[in-house]
Amino acid sequence: MTTPPPPLAADPAAARRSLEGLSLGDAFGERWFPLFRAPGRACDEIKARRTPEEPVWPWTDDTALARALLRVLDEHGRVEQDRLALCFALAFEADQARGYGHGMHILLPELLVRPADWRTLAPELFEGGSLGNGAAMRVAPLGARFHHDIGLAAEQAALQAAVTHAHPEGIAGAVAVAVAAALSVRGEFTLAAVADRTPEGLVRDGLRRAADVPFATEPWKAADLLGNGQRIRADDTVPFALWTAARHPDDLEEALWATAEGLGDVDTTCAITGGVVGAATGVEGAPAQWLSRREPLD
Ligand SMILES: [Mg+2]
Repeated sequence: MTTPPPPLAADPAAARRSLEGLSLGDAFGERWFPLFRAPGRACDEIKARRTPEEPVWPWTDDTALARALLRVLDEHGRVEQDRLALCFALAFEADQARGYGHGMHILLPELLVRPADWRTLAPELFEGGSLGNGAAMRVAPLGARFHHDIGLAAEQAALQAAVTHAHPEGIAGAVAVAVAAALSVRGEFTLAAVADRTPEGLVRDGLRRAADVPFATEPWKAADLLGNGQRIRADDTVPFALWTAARHPDDLEEALWATAEGLGDVDTTCAITGGVVGAATGVEGAPAQWLSRREPLD
């Protein structure tokens, strides 16, 4: 019989605040996709701060997987990778029309049958593993949960990433977002501090560039410099999403408008920003109309 590992210091309330912010950003950001609004119209409406008129804003894969991750943390107190692989697969199976990327359409059905095979299947995806946004977009609540110990937050973020995103840049994106969320809860969030704790590579280089972009810069210009997620890579997504979060650390609504100005993979950039800022602020300060339109979480 093996002795269970000791419990890790955790703050489930902070994780919940982050999940609320993440899902609000996800649902809000999705409204600006070309499927719903032509880019010119989206730009005009975002600039005018016009709330999307649709009565229901469904959340997408970002929220579905963040919920699955938090469920495993609530059950086990830490990332249990085989269980997590199954929970991700179950979330996908429950509703495949949540905007999952191509790689997840390949990987998650396989993990439903053989969850422990993430060890071989995830690294085989795209020759060397996925360096997409999936591991970063779902991880902010984990960072918030483990904010007492930034090293632990980074370690657990990397463990949850490896189940689907084996490429070092995919993992680095997750570490950066988890660290940002942890620092956000502590009131210590800066881009330089996140870059210092992110593994060497393109994500970290992007964070260093982001730290040099003044907050007086218009967000669409910052997105031009840093990327807006259009390339579906962590290094093209995380630096801009964290730049807008650092620009508005106390104002979730304005942080999300600023992120939306970058367009691109806008549900995911807004999910990341929302998860990081929301970890500190919660969603109580967000417009009541946004909260009533977001698809319920439970
Ligand atoms: Mg999505």
